[in-house]
Amino acid sequence: MKSNKFKNLINGIDKFNNLEFRLLKEKIEERIYSKRVSYILETAKDELKCPYCSSKILIKWGKRSDLQRYKCKNCKKTFNSLTNTPLARLKRKGHWLDYANCLKRGLSIRKAAEECDIHKNTSFRWRHRFLENSKFIKAKKLGGIVEKTHIKLKESFKGSRDKVRIESKRKDVFVLYGIDRNNNIHDITNKGFSSNIINKYYKNIILENSLILSDRKNQFTKFSKDANLKHTHFTENKDKLSYNEKSETYKYQFMEWLNKKLRGVATKYLENYVSWFRSMNEFRSGIKAITILYRAKSIEKYRHQPQKMTRFI
Ligand SMILES: [Zn+2]
Repeated sequence: MKSNKFKNLINGIDKFNNLEFRLLKEKIEERIYSKRVSYILETAKDELKCPYCSSKILIKWGKRSDLQRYKCKNCKKTFNSLTNTPLARLKRKGHWLDYANCLKRGLSIRKAAEECDIHKNTSFRWRHRFLENSKFIKAKKLGGIVEKTHIKLKESFKGSRDKVRIESKRKDVFVLYGIDRNNNIHDITNKGFSSNIINKYYKNIILENSLILSDRKNQFTKFSKDANLKHTHFTENKDKLSYNEKSETYKYQFMEWLNKKLRGVATKYLENYVSWFRSMNEFRSGIKAITILYRAKSIEKYRHQPQKMTRFI
């Protein structure tokens, strides 16, 4: 049974001019995509429980913004499946999949805003909300030939109103990488770079009998020795074993992307960018837009990612 509102719309449609038709079409498409995104996220197979008290005794409590609301019988609070996740209260779901696609392609805030027809401030907010969980989703083990390298950057206050930006007072910031031949990547963003720091973060990550292949920093030599791991430097074995120094290419591409495409980033967000770049590179065919949304909603499913199979030497 069609409602009167619907009948009136259909009867009036012949009188619409071109602009009105286009606006109607856009509106309908946005609604369809919004419902699709809600459906995808609501059926992501996470266990449904109250985000406040973890009770599983819930009753359906109407729908809002295309999402099913629930009421917890225990604490009486209401919520939907995005409550307390980085995606909570973000609007215009109809554009989320397009936006995740822009992240997959590593686009700047302005370019992504143009493509998704959203304001650049929204583009900035979505970027960091969509990426918030990425830093928890990295390889848990590295094995075989493990390349260790690092990048040194100067602290950046891009976008900040803080005037204390004297060049000489800017501190060093480091990104440390561990990458094995099966593209398991474990990175650390840190203000320091010592063998103790490497030890702290990588001691339980690198499997026994792995070979560490690193740049010429003594910190990696000392770490390998302390951890009782075989160790060699990149250049020493270039001819002998034809190592391809994947990590050197990786960090070069990261810096190119950071400086040329994104035109530098603020240090407070650096870890998000390091994680974003990793997620763009961890799958051979690239990350799926839908996976970006799943991860943004919940890290629980991804926190214990299985290690990609490792060839041992
Ligand atoms: Zn509850």
